[in-house]
Amino acid sequence: MEKILVTGGAGFLGSHLCDRLVNSGADVLCVDNFFTGSKSNLAHLIGKPNFELMRHDVTFPLYVEVDKIFNLACPASPVHYQHDPVQTTKTSVQGAINMLGLAKRVKARILQASTSEVYGDPEIHPQTEDYWGRVNPIGIRSCYDEGKRCAETLFFDYWRQHKLRIKVIRIFNTYGPRMHPNDGRVVSNFIVQALQNKDITLYGDGRQTRSFCYVDDLIDGFMSMMDSPDHITGPINMGNPGEFSMIELAELTLRLTGSKSKIVFLPLPQDDPRRRQPDIDEAKEKLHWWPKVQLEDGLKETIAYFRSAHDL
Ligand code: NAD
Ligand code: UDP
Ligand code: UDP
Repeated sequence: MEKILVTGGAGFLGSHLCDRLVNSGADVLCVDNFFTGSKSNLAHLIGKPNFELMRHDVTFPLYVEVDKIFNLACPASPVHYQHDPVQTTKTSVQGAINMLGLAKRVKARILQASTSEVYGDPEIHPQTEDYWGRVNPIGIRSCYDEGKRCAETLFFDYWRQHKLRIKVIRIFNTYGPRMHPNDGRVVSNFIVQALQNKDITLYGDGRQTRSFCYVDDLIDGFMSMMDSPDHITGPINMGNPGEFSMIELAELTLRLTGSKSKIVFLPLPQDDPRRRQPDIDEAKEKLHWWPKVQLEDGLKETIAYFRSAHDL
């Protein structure tokens, strides 16, 4: 049985990935320090013979024997990663060093959950993988953006220097069940506000855009990338190219929830990118992967989750 390590496996994406891997019959070891993740995301897996959960912080060395590593450990929402920015950089950078050191020792294949934030506030649109980005090195988002950029550097240096088998994916905004209700991300904020008939908080003029990928589609992408031939290292963009303004998202959420909430306009956070949309031609061509779930359908699933799991 293949032994697979998932770091950050108790989080939103990690828990869906653990589900998929456990169901495929792999022997899954999840490590997490529960900073933003929770055991409740994995409650249904605990007790299964091919699943193990370990409390561990990836900024410290980890000695285990595995065949594959998915490195997801890192808070992903601005509210959480800005709460302790020094720890965010340590998690991205020292966490990557430790997981790469582990991969080197046990000759494991290793995948990094990188991010569209490596493009910063981009000058080109949509973003292709060869674009180097426009990132502020000293702003409030830098701990995350630069941490993830440095992690990519480490992955490619371990690949060049130590011939590691690496896989780097740049994930664009992803949403779905098990998003943290208080993590401040736009999809969870709008759904929770709508279900409670509270004001919908639109930042700036609401015309900034994002592209939203449903979690099941992204997990398909994780699997395709990990199982791709060794010469496919990435970085490869993964996301849904459908581009929506935050006003459109607010209106769609109001319609799907049947909410009486009003939209209120609040100041735009510092360094908030104006537009973000993935170019996914590489993923289509090299991995035969592209997202299938429409925003409206994915939102319905996510709304149903928040209604039942959080009693809204
Ligand atoms: P999340 O916050 O739900 O999950 C992150 C997990 O990592 C949590 O369970 C947290 O407790 C754990 N963690 C944090 N620091 C740790 C540490 N030092 N040691 C061990 N565990 C630690 O976020 P998510 O949305 O599931 O994101 C998972 C990964 O995907 C992150 O690396 C994130 O940067 C990346 N990503 C996510 C998105 C998205 O839209 N969700 C977009 C781009 C990239
Ligand atoms: N490391 C780890 N688990 C292992 C092997 C290494 O956590 O199974 C850590 C180790 O603590 C080291 C880091 O990974 O700090 C980088 O390891 P590498 O072998 O690349 O470098 P070195 O040990 O020479 O610093
Ligand atoms: N946003 C918003 N209202 C909210 C939360 C976020 O208008 O309650 C906006 C935010 O300013 C940004 C977009 O929605 O322009 C996406 O924000 P999120 O934090 O989800 O992700 P990121 O900025 O990292 O893409």
